[in-house]
Amino acid sequence: ALEASKLHKAYNGVEVLGAVDLTIKSGEVVSIIGPSGSGKTTLIRLLNGLEELNNGKIELNGEAFLKYVHHASTKPHIEEHQEHRTKIGMVFQSFNLFPNMTVLKNLLLAPSYHHLANKKELEMQAYQLLNKVGMLEHAWKYPHQLSGGQQQRVAIARALMMRPQIMLFDEPTSALDPEKVNEVLKVIEDLAREGITMVIVTHEMNFAFNVSDRIVFMEQGRVVCDDEPQVLRDGHNPRVNAFLKDVT
Ligand code: ATP
Repeated sequence: ALEASKLHKAYNGVEVLGAVDLTIKSGEVVSIIGPSGSGKTTLIRLLNGLEELNNGKIELNGEAFLKYVHHASTKPHIEEHQEHRTKIGMVFQSFNLFPNMTVLKNLLLAPSYHHLANKKELEMQAYQLLNKVGMLEHAWKYPHQLSGGQQQRVAIARALMMRPQIMLFDEPTSALDPEKVNEVLKVIEDLAREGITMVIVTHEMNFAFNVSDRIVFMEQGRVVCDDEPQVLRDGHNPRVNAFLKDVT
């Protein structure tokens, strides 16, 4: 499980997240939805240490990962247990593949660096994952030779190479041409069915409601609603209703 408590973030003194609590249990698929600027991306980037906390703490399977410490005796600082970083996989809106490396090399870089297995084993794993995301025949291409949808599928395979305990997706389809969105959602859906723990920031409402065990609705840096899709759909929360009416 990933447990975040009292996460707080401000940019230049302006609060963008205020005391957010979020727990993701093992095997759970959780989507984060909400209006533009509500703090979804900031939250998911805090969860894996890409943004600095201004307060709060994050634990992974009961062990401290990141913690904002402010004792009277020391300057406030962030305590990080770096060994947990590689257990969290991240997929970005803009793919972020290494442009000067082949698809295969993109997959092998991090696990080789961290000595996750020997070269042969890692190559086998890479081919299996490329096959899974339908990109095996493109293993020797460079990112610029691929469509956005193909690049994103490679980015998903690359994140899985580290055998993460949890996968975070930050708006994985928002940079794609409309006709490429479904091929990426399909891959994520397959992973969800396999029981991989995931947090997905998305504007794809149908997808979120179909694939998620829970949906977190954010507004103005707060979690307004955190419940099963059916409960959100039942429409007891007027703010969620208004949002869903606007976007669907
Ligand atoms: P969207 O759906 O449009 O991507 P979001 O819900 O992901 O929005 P965030 O990107 O997390 O929202 O932004 C939350 C708020 O924080 C916004 O008001 C944004 O302008 C602000 N913000 C985000 N990143 C920075 C930054 N690096 N510096 C200053 N302000 C920032």
